[in-house]
Amino acid sequence: MPPLSFPQLYDAHGRPLEYLRLAVTDRCNLRCFYCMPEEGITYLPKHELLSYEEMLRLVGVMTQLGVRKVRLTGGEPFVRRDLVPFMERLAALPGLSDISLTTNGVLTAPHVPALARLGIKAVNLSLDTLDRQRFFEITRRDELPQVLRTLHALLEAGIQLKINAVVMDGRNIQDLVPLAELSRELPVDVRFIEEMPFNGGSHIATPESLPWNHRRIRQHLEAHLGELAPVPMPVGATASEYTIAGHRGSVGIIAAYSRTFCGSCNRLRLTAEGGIKTCLYDQGVLDLRALLRNGATDNDLAEALAQAFYHRAANGFEAERLRPVHQLNFESMATIGG
Ligand code: SAM
Ligand code: SF4
Repeated sequence: MPPLSFPQLYDAHGRPLEYLRLAVTDRCNLRCFYCMPEEGITYLPKHELLSYEEMLRLVGVMTQLGVRKVRLTGGEPFVRRDLVPFMERLAALPGLSDISLTTNGVLTAPHVPALARLGIKAVNLSLDTLDRQRFFEITRRDELPQVLRTLHALLEAGIQLKINAVVMDGRNIQDLVPLAELSRELPVDVRFIEEMPFNGGSHIATPESLPWNHRRIRQHLEAHLGELAPVPMPVGATASEYTIAGHRGSVGIIAAYSRTFCGSCNRLRLTAEGGIKTCLYDQGVLDLRALLRNGATDNDLAEALAQAFYHRAANGFEAERLRPVHQLNFESMATIGG
């Protein structure tokens, strides 16, 4: 079949489609309390997950609509078998210039040479504390040493490393400065994320009631580390980035719940079961798996995606308001991919 030819896709608010976050699984080997309950998780049956074949086909269509960058996420991407061979096939798709990945780092270290070989530009490593006991309390697993092994392996391989830390009142505030201190000697970008009330029994009701919002995180870091000097944000970025005098790396703050960055959002999310979210806060706007499995052509898929993207909410607040089930708490970030 000849390749599709569509113009670059824009939504009704003038934002281009450039970036796909692809959740390759809903399964995980950690149980971060802000993301998943400890017990009683019902994972999707295997046949309800998209196959790699189906993912490759969908990404192929999306590149025709403007997607240039794909980030693999989950659940934990490395829990899915044969991830690296899948990444090899993804890297061979025409039109993609950037493949990256978000991982909890537990199973990642042995795969780092393969990631480097594949030309993976950047890895986001989730790490909320450098303290082993608090790591256990937050993730309900004793895996900090494995995660640190991954951190060092990534640095040695020369892969650009971003550390993602969720800021949790009463849980890891004492860790923010030690985590930011990693950027003093190491070429890492340490990013602090506002906690969002997705699954895990959060009591945060509104952005106004968030104890640690982006402003307070910045004040806290500045009180201990000196001035955070802003670096201009590239279009589409979610993190406000800063340099600190004397630090080799940088720090970032992601106002994930305050949602200050929606105006330049250029992304789509494809969930492990083949749902499309045009905003982190919507409840899913298109069932691509159903279309795929009912014989849709690439052209049908592209049309459906174009419609969904065009009609996306103006921002995360509107998307949240439009959800049929309002509470974010019913959904796990492990099915969304962060
Ligand atoms: N398992 C991988 C990991 O942890 O890096 C990838 C998936 S995880 C859902 C992606 C990102 O979402 C992680 O950096 C995680 O910290 C973040 N995340 C999960 N739940 C969150 C929440 N309730 N608020 C803020 N960030 C959250
Ligand atoms: Fe797993 Fe990542 Fe969710 Fe933690 S944040 S439970 S590592 S998917």
